[in-house]
Amino acid sequence: MRYKKGVTLFGVSAEILAALVVADSVWKRLGEELVVTSITDGKHKFGSLHYLGYAGDVRTRYFQDGGVEAADQLRDALTDEYDVVLESTHIHIEFQPKG
Ligand SMILES: [Zn+2]
Repeated sequence: MRYKKGVTLFGVSAEILAALVVADSVWKRLGEELVVTSITDGKHKFGSLHYLGYAGDVRTRYFQDGGVEAADQLRDALTDEYDVVLESTHIHIEFQPKG
């Protein structure tokens, strides 16, 4: 696993780091290196969990299916407390316990 240059981890939650550990093993199984493209840096929607350290983005461009399989496997490997959202350029992972 590696971080894209410019990513900041300041304020990242343990819950997101835990998800990245799981994502790393999923990506390895799929034959790619996990690249984290954003944590608390960058521009996100107002009120985004990124700013609180409860969201992270990971690269998908090397997957021929755009990341569908990676997102499915990651969703399956994580608890229901996470949302795994396949976007056009990346997978957005956020920790948001329900209820
Ligand atoms: Zn995101």
